[in-house]
Amino acid sequence: MAFKQMAFEQIAFENATRTKSTLLLLAATICPSIFFTGLLASANDGSPPLEQLLNALPPITSDDKIRLRSDVNLPGSQEICSRLHQIFDFDLNIQGLKNDPRVNRPLEVGLASEQKIASLINTRMGGRALGARAFVSHAQGFTGSTEAYDWYVAGHEIEHVIMARFGATQPALPTYLVEGIACSVGAHCCRELGIGSKALQQQAKKLSQVSAQNVEDVFQNFRVSSDIAEFRNTGKLFIGEHIGGLFVEFMACHMSDSPSKFFLNWAVFSKRLGGGTPFETAFQQQFGFSIEKAQSEFIQFIRRTENNPAARFQNTVYQGFAV
Ligand SMILES: [Zn+2]
Repeated sequence: MAFKQMAFEQIAFENATRTKSTLLLLAATICPSIFFTGLLASANDGSPPLEQLLNALPPITSDDKIRLRSDVNLPGSQEICSRLHQIFDFDLNIQGLKNDPRVNRPLEVGLASEQKIASLINTRMGGRALGARAFVSHAQGFTGSTEAYDWYVAGHEIEHVIMARFGATQPALPTYLVEGIACSVGAHCCRELGIGSKALQQQAKKLSQVSAQNVEDVFQNFRVSSDIAEFRNTGKLFIGEHIGGLFVEFMACHMSDSPSKFFLNWAVFSKRLGGGTPFETAFQQQFGFSIEKAQSEFIQFIRRTENNPAARFQNTVYQGFAV
């Protein structure tokens, strides 16, 4: 049912405040059995809370590409909408999907007030994709400067929506790649459009400290939907997602003819995956190497570049952002 198909994720900062009620809501989003025990007494239409929130946000602007909803009087809503167009187009173009009607169709964006969204997304710089339909985030982040972290959030979440439109999500795709491709595409979007520089700086700083052991942990333990809650609870979600992003960058820069070719291949890989081809088979067919080989080479690369961020980020989207 639609509930199970809802892409679930949250970009989290390690210092985020976590409340018991939030964890219950997040757990319920992962586990339908909890949802239906009545813990979410406010659920009144059978929809998951994120979908209820989106449906309750008043429409602000709408065109053939972006349908913006918000319960906040957004200053510059046309500018926000214009920027979202650019981001959506970037995410499509990098994968050669501009002319693919399965993915290049209207996208809903819900920008909610803190009051409405705090119980669902408990960090101020996070968002969540709602399956193939939409992404939802905090309104306040989208009214600031072009450097703001939230523009990265938009690129990241829109990539999740694109993947959902192919049906290429969990459980077909491991979590570290569901998040990895969203992190990588979101970062490329920021770099190319000259927005969200705060996000790239923060990500590069954290990734410069990653060890081979951290990477092995992600490959072994950040694979299925339920692993997201465990990584969040242990303060590893942010770095776990971005290790996935650096893994994608590694494959794009060091194991492919070129990054641009890799992202074009990613779209075809996603279509194969969504069409039912098993992950390992689709991966080998499209990229020409096995996932095991890619993981092994990445772990060795991370070991070689410990304490050397310039070498680690060379030619990647994070180049020049290392602190
Ligand atoms: Zn994500």
